[in-house]
Amino acid sequence: QISPDLPEIRQLDDAAANRIAAGEVVERPASAIKELVENSIDAQARRIEIAYADGGKTLIRVSDDGHGIPEYQLPLALSRHATSKIDGTDLLNIRSFGFRGEALPSMGAVGRLSVKSRVANAASGAEIVVDGGVIAPVRPVATPHGTVVELRNLFHATPARLKFLRTDRAEAGAISDVIKRLAMAEPSIGFTLRDVSGGGAGRVVFRADPESGDLFDALHGRLRSVLGAEFADNCLPVDATRDGMSLTGYASLPTFSRGNAMAQFLFVNGRPVKDKLLIGALRGAYSDFLHAGRYPVVALFLECDPEQVDVNVHPAKAEVRFREPGLARGLMISGLRHALTGAGHRASTTVAD
Ligand code: ADP
Ligand code: MG
Repeated sequence: QISPDLPEIRQLDDAAANRIAAGEVVERPASAIKELVENSIDAQARRIEIAYADGGKTLIRVSDDGHGIPEYQLPLALSRHATSKIDGTDLLNIRSFGFRGEALPSMGAVGRLSVKSRVANAASGAEIVVDGGVIAPVRPVATPHGTVVELRNLFHATPARLKFLRTDRAEAGAISDVIKRLAMAEPSIGFTLRDVSGGGAGRVVFRADPESGDLFDALHGRLRSVLGAEFADNCLPVDATRDGMSLTGYASLPTFSRGNAMAQFLFVNGRPVKDKLLIGALRGAYSDFLHAGRYPVVALFLECDPEQVDVNVHPAKAEVRFREPGLARGLMISGLRHALTGAGHRASTTVAD
């Protein structure tokens, strides 16, 4: 006898599944922007323009000059688990930012999403719009080569989630933070961030022109745009390799420190991460050089075999998991110490504050 009180298992429809996934992928305007800019980077864009209004709550727009999406694939780009970046066979070997195929469908479930795109040699561009999970037919539009994704009225259909957003100013701050991190990771790409609240061309919040030259020159130039001239003039190059892992970037001289850890930018295989293990190693490396309560400013890039690190931990969070944590930690400490002592007496004779 089957009890009538037993709960029945049902398959969720796509709209419901997308709304649930959206909770993970799109927490706030900055996380939507991160996903969109990462898509532009994955599409080999050379210039990316980002615009937002009202802290991103009413409008987010990311325009790129990347390879675009062919018209016939636009509906697929909006469907769940559809991606051009992996084929599912090698989840441990991922070089692109994206791979889950969840960002666009999630955004289409929690706002009004428009994707306009035009691939090279196409006679015209095309647009697809999805609003609250309802997809309208693809239509032709005039649009330059590349892709323009616009997300309007994020969370307007879910007032409970809208209430969790912070002030426009705080959301704008989080957007700027995300853009600056991505800009550090991609010095050869030009970025422009505009606040277009109230319409018009808006106000440029951040701008970084494409950098050229070798890796260190390009990064140094980009760090000057993002972290400022004072950092650029008071940092040391870090360049170390060990056991197939490499650490490159710039780290502040002990004479140029801060009272908080807000300016420690760490990347693993090009992805911005906030990783306890690496932050701890950074503290350890500077422990002989800085007084307690002072923090270095760094932009450091750890590169390793993708099989050494699992980036599949959480869609929106910046966590990674190393197969051999000791290796990453050891390289951070030895690479930084080498850079700092290499600077010799310049660093040690001028220890201030
Ligand atoms: P993922 O990035 O994980 O593949 P998304 O939902 O973010 O998933 O995007 C789905 C697909 O749409 C991507 O795999 C890509 O083929 C295409 N796409 C998204 N944004 C862009 C873009 N800016 N330029 C070119 N193609 C894009
Ligand atoms: Mg993506």
